[in-house]
Amino acid sequence: MSDWTRKTAAELADALAAGETTSVEITQAHLDRIAAVDGAVHAFLHVDAEGALAQAAESDARRAAGTLLSVLDGVPIAVKDVLATNGLPTTCGSKILEGWVPPYDATVVRRLREAGLPILGKTNMDEFAMGSSTEHSAYGATHNPWDLDRIPGGSGGGSAAAVAAFEAPLALGTDTGGSIRQPGAVTGTVGHKPTYGGVSRYGLVALANSLDQVGPVTRTVLDSALLHEVIGGHDPLDSTSIDQPLPPLVDAAKQGADGDLTGVRIGVITELAGDGWQPGVMTRFQESVDLMVAAGAEVVEVSCPSFVHALATYYLILPAEASSNLAKFDAMRYGLRVWPEEGASAEEVMRATRDAGFGDEVKRRIILGTYALSSGYYDAYYGQAQKVRTLIARDFEAAFEKADVLVSPTAPTTAFKLGEKLDDPIAMYLNDLATIPANLAGVPGISVPSGLADEDGLPAGVQILAPALADDRCYRVGAALEAALLKQWGAPLLDKAPALEGPSA
Ligand code: GLN
Repeated sequence: MSDWTRKTAAELADALAAGETTSVEITQAHLDRIAAVDGAVHAFLHVDAEGALAQAAESDARRAAGTLLSVLDGVPIAVKDVLATNGLPTTCGSKILEGWVPPYDATVVRRLREAGLPILGKTNMDEFAMGSSTEHSAYGATHNPWDLDRIPGGSGGGSAAAVAAFEAPLALGTDTGGSIRQPGAVTGTVGHKPTYGGVSRYGLVALANSLDQVGPVTRTVLDSALLHEVIGGHDPLDSTSIDQPLPPLVDAAKQGADGDLTGVRIGVITELAGDGWQPGVMTRFQESVDLMVAAGAEVVEVSCPSFVHALATYYLILPAEASSNLAKFDAMRYGLRVWPEEGASAEEVMRATRDAGFGDEVKRRIILGTYALSSGYYDAYYGQAQKVRTLIARDFEAAFEKADVLVSPTAPTTAFKLGEKLDDPIAMYLNDLATIPANLAGVPGISVPSGLADEDGLPAGVQILAPALADDRCYRVGAALEAALLKQWGAPLLDKAPALEGPSA
């Protein structure tokens, strides 16, 4: 019997179409894998075995009746716990939302259901998506399937680890400063942050509204394109959603897989290299650029001078928006309520609840954000950051005059050890050096595994950025690079991951 957990989503869709298996069999195989390894990986906060199997049975019935909903009908998926799921717990990795079960679906979740994808469960994350290691989850860290003592990236480490550990063929992530791409890089998986406004944010519990995007987490570029076509496109429920059709993403991935990049101009960003970048990560990056050149691409150096200020800019804008968003967790409407004493006032209950319900990183950012927005400092910090944000967008515009896509390593290092950066917020923030500019400018970016860094044998990633609305370029170039790297390695990167035999849950 085939091991269905080792197949890509595209292969599963083909096997279903050929009548070689059923959605129930595929879904059960993934639930068995979760039961076997998730005790060690802890990618999931909630597994919905019963619901997933019922949805799979419905998919099989549709197939028998010839009423399929999409090409991915019957292929199971995991969903980051920051997305509202009707009837399933949604905690955002926070104690303050423990026990909250939304009465509605996020638009992307509704679209999964309307396309017939069984939902396996909800994945672990840094609390309210703040972090780069998933260690800030109030429910315990996720472990990297390549080495259980290392971080899986963050904030969407649960989604990336679930896909890397073959617990799910597909997952949804969210990316505010890199939370889809950086976990992709350190787990050897693919992750795409769509153009801002390209995928609905309705029902995504906001971290920073002007930066957040939902996107696919997968093992191949084609699978990301397939999933992006399911979740993307205009949504009247999100006022920032772009009212335009998506470019042909699956076609672009298929075109790229032919391996021809003739005429494509690749811009290498000067500022995203140098001190602090792990040598093995840079070696794999350079090799990827060489492979793109061998495929016919032309390489140009581009300078984006304002990118050196991106991190500082982000850590003013993000906390400002987050502090405002998190004000709604007031003990009155959702989740946790702590009574400090009998007869306490509403204000005392709010204070006690927020003290008990939020973790240190969340509190740190609320303090930073309220400070940056306070009347005496607004112009000096928040206003200034918005100006630098404009400069970063202008750097992108100028760079895209010279190049069709821009490339850099996705993250400066491979996966670090659990605990290594937990007490050093700045060291943690630096992981997103390369991914943050795309969020500030709203442009799309994909991370594709670039191979194993020589020092530690752990995966690294290459990020491919495109102009707003040109997500298809990420998929075309990403698929071409993936095809070239596959020839180089002789097998998918994840085949090289140490076998994971975790304890049964
Ligand atoms: N690691 C970044 C942060 O902590 C990015 C988070 C994200 O993309 N959600 O803010």
